[in-house]
Amino acid sequence: MIMETQILEIDERSLALSKKIILSGGAVAFPTETVYGLGANAFDDNAVKNIFAIKGRPSDNPLIVHVHSGYNLSSLVSYIPEYTKLLSKAFLPGPLTMVYRSCNKVSPAVSCGLDTLAVRIPSHKGAQQFLKYLDLPIAAPSANISKHVSPVTARHVYDDLKGRIEVILDGGKCEGGIESTVLDCTGDIPCVLRSGLVTADMIAQVVGECHEYVMKDGEKVRSPGMKYKHYSPNCQTILFEYSDRAKAFAEYKELKSQGKRAVIMCDNSVYEELKPQDVLNLGKDEREMAANLYDKLREGERIADIIVAVAPLKQDGVMVGVMNRMRKAFG
Ligand code: AMP
Ligand code: MG
Repeated sequence: MIMETQILEIDERSLALSKKIILSGGAVAFPTETVYGLGANAFDDNAVKNIFAIKGRPSDNPLIVHVHSGYNLSSLVSYIPEYTKLLSKAFLPGPLTMVYRSCNKVSPAVSCGLDTLAVRIPSHKGAQQFLKYLDLPIAAPSANISKHVSPVTARHVYDDLKGRIEVILDGGKCEGGIESTVLDCTGDIPCVLRSGLVTADMIAQVVGECHEYVMKDGEKVRSPGMKYKHYSPNCQTILFEYSDRAKAFAEYKELKSQGKRAVIMCDNSVYEELKPQDVLNLGKDEREMAANLYDKLREGERIADIIVAVAPLKQDGVMVGVMNRMRKAFG
């Protein structure tokens, strides 16, 4: 079904319209501090299935349920470990998703049949307004076509989903820029399944210990989303390690001499060193790089045939999450 898509400021009128859409089983895009989400009523089986259809999302890649900061978590999950209370105090609302044992109150389509439920309380003011107005758990993946770059502006959502949804709530550019940290909290020690702005070190500082999930050969993946190609711009891409930055620059110049629209993606220090004419500068530090990555990937696919990326020197802390996305985006 093709429909007209509106981008609306968040106010009483757009919230009332969003509520009407959600209660009738539809989906609404809304801002968060990480990326834009595509939300539906987590209690409504058809509405949740519709989210997968709109995005073209594989049906075994579970969704995160979003709730406002006053929502009663124990109505959604069967067990809340003590350490998650410490983590909630330290990091919520914010870009940390915690995976709990589910008590099967939401549609089974949310977790794709897993017995766990991922829950997140976003800090973005507009997200909180939307979630409070609805007072429902909202199942929401990123508001992009599956495998494309996640959206960090309302315009990005529009570019991917126009004609497929009625309303995009506009909350400006997302400050965080990469998806939330996903933390498995079903064991005695929490385990990072997907890295993000809340790092394993930050979690360990609060609760003493934190594991980082590495998939072993032949093992069933614990966070199904991690096995898919992701975040890919619609143009050619090539990634060089930091130590190969001179090779990257030579490749870029060679491509230009062949008449290709080539552009270099790098951090500010590499830009200062190489000074390429065509650049997608990710910025000076890890926070800037996280915030800029998806915007720059989407700019790249608009202006270039090929993005030649150089990995930054620093790859720890928040850069674990940024590099994870860069490697997936660049195949
Ligand atoms: P997205 O909303 O597109 O950022 O994707 C949600 C991410 O959360 C994916 O990587 C999923 O695999 C992960 N996720 C959601 N629910 C669960 C769950 N119950 N257990 C493990 N990972 C989950
Ligand atoms: Mg996504």
